[in-house]
Amino acid sequence: EAKGDHGASFRVYDSSMNLRVMQKVEMESEARIALREDQFSLALQPQVDLKTRKLVGFEALIRWQHPTKGLIMPGQFIPLLENTAFMLELDYWVIAHGARLLSELNGNGFQDLKFAINLSSAQFTDPSLPHFLQQQIQLNKIDPACICLELTETALVSDLKRATKIMKSIRDLGCKIAIDDFGTGYSSLSYLKALPTDYVKIDRSFVAGMLDHKDDQNIIFSIISMVRNMGLEVIAEGIEEAAQYEMLSQFNCHQGQGYLIGKPIPEANLWNQLKENVDNKIWTRPLPVLNG
Ligand code: C2E
Ligand code: MG
Ligand code: MG
Ligand code: MG
Repeated sequence: EAKGDHGASFRVYDSSMNLRVMQKVEMESEARIALREDQFSLALQPQVDLKTRKLVGFEALIRWQHPTKGLIMPGQFIPLLENTAFMLELDYWVIAHGARLLSELNGNGFQDLKFAINLSSAQFTDPSLPHFLQQQIQLNKIDPACICLELTETALVSDLKRATKIMKSIRDLGCKIAIDDFGTGYSSLSYLKALPTDYVKIDRSFVAGMLDHKDDQNIIFSIISMVRNMGLEVIAEGIEEAAQYEMLSQFNCHQGQGYLIGKPIPEANLWNQLKENVDNKIWTRPLPVLNG
């Protein structure tokens, strides 16, 4: 086979689609190694009650500390891992690791913290999810009501009937459910009514625009009113400015998270950051006495 032929055929196959397939395959094998070598960790972003500033809980966000590439954010690997066999493994690692972290927090006196975990579509529809959750809750002696699972609209709308069934089984365990990034997908108000859920999270794109764009502000106001009228709680994400915080609070949004309130904290720094923020009165939560 001539060298030239090889080069030509490579060009033919080097379409962006095939490049993506190659990237997926490479990413999957790198991520498998990373999990074995303990390169994944969680960062915890504080969520507060907007009226009282009390710390109500954390959202767990995955981080990949690569030995040569440095810190890799989920946006750079989660989309590539989606629909690979490995994604589910990583998702289950997040639940198991998160449950252990929550039980450590409980052991240090934080009894009633919400701990939010993001689910991929694949994990949400995986039949072993409810049993795995239950196992981890028992193993770590966690109050199931402290676990909140975040789902995006895209995971729900493909099969509403099935989604409803799975959500019911999760809630039967005592866990909570949040609809993440609300407003960015096919947000239909009627499905919210049908779905067993506890929280709705307003996507940060609306929060980012709310001070300068009346339509974003109107959307936020409407989502808050509607969600409240349904007896659910609203959480705004991506609060970066005090004026956004104030307006959301005036609109009666229950909870919020964002860089203004706190950036995601690497799990290794969690306790120090908790103490620092409480000392500086950024949050109003009284700190328990640390045992050990
Ligand atoms: P998300 O669930 O909507 O998480 C919120 C994202 O917004 C996080 O990005 C967070 O760091 C970022 N963020 C928080 N506050 C602010 C702010 O004030 N301004 C700005 N500009 N950004 C803010 P991150 O950690 O990069 O995660 C991105 C997405 O990756 C998440 O979006 C979630 O969909 C996904 N993800 C993260 N961790 C996991 C995980 O363990 N499992 C799965 N399946 N997906 C995850
Ligand atoms: Mg989320
Ligand atoms: Mg979100
Ligand atoms: Mg988002």
